[in-house]
Amino acid sequence: MKKLLIVGGGHATAALLNQLHKQTSNGCSDWQVTVISAESTEAVNRPLLSKDYLSHKVGDDQLPLIASEVRQAMTSTLGLQWLTDCRVISVDRQRHQLQLYNGRQLEWDTLVLATGVRLRQLSLPGGDQPVSEMKGVFYLKTASQSQALRQALQHARQLTVIGGGFIGLEVAATARQQGVAVCVLESGERLLRRVVAAPVSHWFQQMHIEQGVELRLHSSLQHLLADDHGNVRAIQLASGDVLATDLVVVGIGVEPETGLAQSAGLACDNGILVNEQCQTSDPDIFAAGDGANRRHPLYQQRLRLESVENATHQGQLIAAMLTQSPLPPAAVPWFWSTQYDARLQIAGLSQGYDQLITRQAEGKPGISWLYLRQGRLLACDAVNRPADFLQAKKLISSGQSLDPLQAANAAIPLGQCVAPVDPNDPNAGNSCTLATAAVAS
Ligand SMILES: Cc1cc2nc3c(=O)[nH]c(=O)nc-3n(C[C@H](O)[C@H](O)[C@H](O)COP(=O)(O)OP(=O)(O)OC[C@H]3O[C@@H](n4cnc5c(N)ncnc54)[C@H](O)[C@@H]3O)c2cc1C
Repeated sequence: MKKLLIVGGGHATAALLNQLHKQTSNGCSDWQVTVISAESTEAVNRPLLSKDYLSHKVGDDQLPLIASEVRQAMTSTLGLQWLTDCRVISVDRQRHQLQLYNGRQLEWDTLVLATGVRLRQLSLPGGDQPVSEMKGVFYLKTASQSQALRQALQHARQLTVIGGGFIGLEVAATARQQGVAVCVLESGERLLRRVVAAPVSHWFQQMHIEQGVELRLHSSLQHLLADDHGNVRAIQLASGDVLATDLVVVGIGVEPETGLAQSAGLACDNGILVNEQCQTSDPDIFAAGDGANRRHPLYQQRLRLESVENATHQGQLIAAMLTQSPLPPAAVPWFWSTQYDARLQIAGLSQGYDQLITRQAEGKPGISWLYLRQGRLLACDAVNRPADFLQAKKLISSGQSLDPLQAANAAIPLGQCVAPVDPNDPNAGNSCTLATAAVAS
């Protein structure tokens, strides 16, 4: 029996275990698995934490990523032990040993680092007391953080969200729907600027404003101010404005969690560097998920992606490597976000686009934006147009060119907007060449 140790208990780990369990045909695998996770729960569905769980639409029973009967079966098929509230503090590659914070040591034959990302912390002088000690200041990543925030929202009158990215906007939407006054502070000139084009940002800005959110762009924070009991009460901006608040949610981005890998001497650069098979510079150590920077076969270059799809794919890929099964095929990256009743689905990567096409049928809800480069579809942001999202995924992976006039007509299904192949184009139908050019530029 070989020992598999997995550090981190999130989406990549759940996908790895589910796949390993599925591939255990005779009820007993070659692997004895231990998961070591710093969190207090086993793997949870994180997207729910800023959406349906936060708004009480789903309860605690819907959070686990591994169904309870499967989890039970894993105890016998994989000998699974899941250590929660347990942090790994060092990796000794020579001895194939991990050291836990409590001094315990564990040995491995194969090690997986699925350590994800850590939340960027707000570093501001907190008036009379440090921000980290103030009550009413929240971050959102774990089930317990979401649970605490949803309780606080029930009594809040004024929420300030720091950061206009997906997490911040999802929390803003949930709070507005519960009747809380919301102000979003964004340091840049537009929302979601890291991920979407300006017209998409503006569409989301407009939606939040219509829902009653106060949006302050170009906002620079100076202090958080607390009352005598340590409860946050106001935010002072560099402009001199003071905003009253009784709840603050900080969503200012993340950093790959590479500390362990770096101290173990594994190659890291914006994440833990892995090859197409998720192997690190040490062939006995794999890395997966938000914290891994992988050579992506479709894009022929390194990418570190922060999405459930990416973590799931890489978890499944490692399971296939461990069981010497066929690897899952390369997939177009995708992502989603829900705010109010707008469901955004993003297919592909939009970097390097030279044309943006909007698809919106008059008088009908739903809108999509298509990102093209030299006529070929790179990415699609679809709001309440799931057919566009699904067809875009296919068009992107097959490297198709679009007829821009047809594509702009939302009444024509996207899959029917393909341009005739140019016989002089050496790259026609070659998705890899297309995508590499896009990401590299
Ligand atoms: C609130 C929220 C909403 C989201 N919504 C969406 C969405 O709608 N769509 C989407 O595609 N993505 C969404 N994401 C992103 C998605 O959840 C991540 O891409 C995904 O969880 C990455 O999986 P992972 O396994 O790499 O990391 P994680 O799921 O983050 O797991 C990493 C784990 O490693 C643990 N860890 C780190 N260091 C150590 C250590 N030294 N010892 C022990 N344990 C350690 C951490 O505690 C954590 O449990 C959301 C994320 C959050 C936080």
